[in-house]
Amino acid sequence: MSIPIYTYDAIIVGAGLAGNAAARELKNEGKNVAVITKLHPLRSHSGAAQGGINAALSSADSIELHEFDTVKGSDYLADQDAVEFMCQKAPETVRWAERMGATFSRKEDGQIAQRPFGGQSSPRACYAKDRIGLTLLQTIYEQAFRLGVKFLDEWYATDLIYKDGKVSGIVAFHLRDTQIAIFNAKSVMFATGGYARAFKISSNAHANTGDGLSIVARHGLPLEDMEFVQFHPSGLSGNGVLISEAARGEGGKLFNSKGERFMERYAPNALELASRDVVSRAIVNEIREGRGVGPRKDAVYLDVTHLGKDLIMQRLPELRDLAITFLGLDMIKEPILISATAHYSMGGIPVDIPGHVRKNNTEFVEGFYAAGECSCVSVHGANRLGANSVLEALLFGRFVGKTMASEIDDIALRPATEDDAKRAIDEINWILNNNGDERVAQLREELQDTMTDHAGAFRTEESLQVAVDKIKELRQRHKNIRVDDKSKVFNTELQEALEFGHMLDYAKFIVESAIARKESRGAHFREDFDKRDDVNFLKHTMGYMDTSGDIKLDYMDVTLGKHELKERTY
Ligand SMILES: Cc1cc2nc3c(=O)[nH]c(=O)nc-3n(C[C@H](O)[C@H](O)[C@H](O)COP(=O)(O)OP(=O)(O)OC[C@H]3O[C@@H](n4cnc5c(N)ncnc54)[C@H](O)[C@@H]3O)c2cc1C
Repeated sequence: MSIPIYTYDAIIVGAGLAGNAAARELKNEGKNVAVITKLHPLRSHSGAAQGGINAALSSADSIELHEFDTVKGSDYLADQDAVEFMCQKAPETVRWAERMGATFSRKEDGQIAQRPFGGQSSPRACYAKDRIGLTLLQTIYEQAFRLGVKFLDEWYATDLIYKDGKVSGIVAFHLRDTQIAIFNAKSVMFATGGYARAFKISSNAHANTGDGLSIVARHGLPLEDMEFVQFHPSGLSGNGVLISEAARGEGGKLFNSKGERFMERYAPNALELASRDVVSRAIVNEIREGRGVGPRKDAVYLDVTHLGKDLIMQRLPELRDLAITFLGLDMIKEPILISATAHYSMGGIPVDIPGHVRKNNTEFVEGFYAAGECSCVSVHGANRLGANSVLEALLFGRFVGKTMASEIDDIALRPATEDDAKRAIDEINWILNNNGDERVAQLREELQDTMTDHAGAFRTEESLQVAVDKIKELRQRHKNIRVDDKSKVFNTELQEALEFGHMLDYAKFIVESAIARKESRGAHFREDFDKRDDVNFLKHTMGYMDTSGDIKLDYMDVTLGKHELKERTY
């Protein structure tokens, strides 16, 4: 079978906010750019963002406060140069989105309305009711499409063409007919989003399987800070579907089975609006100590009834719908049941501020860029503040697109050959022809259960070791999988098998990085090392996977700045 080779100036994998914003900038600069996406762009997880996008716009707020809150929220692991850059550019980014056509909710005087979010000194999250993601994604996608960006929907990227320290394209196949193609380009950007689907209780879309990370890691390139997975305090009980922090931002309160507003004990000042890691651990702790509610006593109450019908319908209509659909509870009339849910991935493909992917602590890969949730720049450090990641995706997506446009003419196209698709073809053929007796769905469930139970909001050496051993076992059993659907047309079983392979790889990074980090910082809480240890661990983890699947850990300095290390209290 001959493999088609398509040539572009730039290829972007992913059509969420980061991918669309980058593509729009490249096209605006006259570059020939294509976006490869396994979903229709508007189904990207960015469209699910509910609560808001941060920018210090009001006179009561300042860029410096935004920086401080972000660095403090990160438990001082964020790189302060990147945080400064993001916070400084945030107001301009929001105004740009507005000029592009995004309709924000407004105050009486016509200015963009802002709501309080956890860990923020001032109401800073600009919102569009409770559907900021959809508003922004539709707008930016429309603008990219209008300029003529080529969108290749339902194409699944399986490999990166990486040789001699340079990237010259990707290999992908069309989900419609499993036709493999090579996309040869001077530069490639990954904007493949988050990966909390490795956990059973997760707010993430089914598509968030971390493909981009594992594809990169399989080439021996590093992944940074993978131990830091954020657990959001309010997932709907049982399935983890997100109830945005906006519910607490607007005044929602948390109660346990004794009717106690338990956050008074954990964060006496900020209460429900302490940072996410703090509130999530408080919830998990209440449940562990027997003060949970609901039929399985594995939830707590989130109560917004005192806000009244008008405000709920005006600002939180989607959240109300979600709770009615999934729990049969109407938040206008009664409290709803929530518990912590795996939500966001702070770690990812290491990049510098302009988006160049790192080969190691000091060198970069020519022609390769990343932005959005799959990347680690690192503006969130050990814990991200709510409404900072839509900002990150949009702002860095745009900026990295501009960087690519300005550098593309200095990169020579390295022609691809059919051989470059060999790895991808071998993997697909192996999945379709392997005749074992293990089922991907079963293995995936075991992985997700293990990650939620043993690598969740509370961790110990012992629990993490259970996860390490389980992943080892699953990797062995994975060799023995079998898919029943051998067809070439929309073979979702094949896709799920590929995705599960990716999950297994990055999950290994999560647990091995977590076991080595013998301290508690941000979202990574070790019960056996319950203090932050700046002497030994004020550093980024850099993990490298070899061809046998073993991971070697190294570390990289944190870029410190004007915000000095302090104990983090709320
Ligand atoms: C329920 C929910 C609510 C949230 N609310 C907020 C909020 O209010 N404020 C905030 O700041 N943040 C929020 N976040 C986080 C934020 O939405 C995300 O971090 C951000 O939108 C990620 O954007 P992205 O462009 O990096 O990735 P995504 O939007 O996830 O897009 C990823 C893209 O990659 C493509 N892709 C992935 N793998 C492949 C592959 N192998 N081949 C081809 N294409 C591939 C997908 O098709 C998709 O187009 C929320 C997240 C969730 C889950």
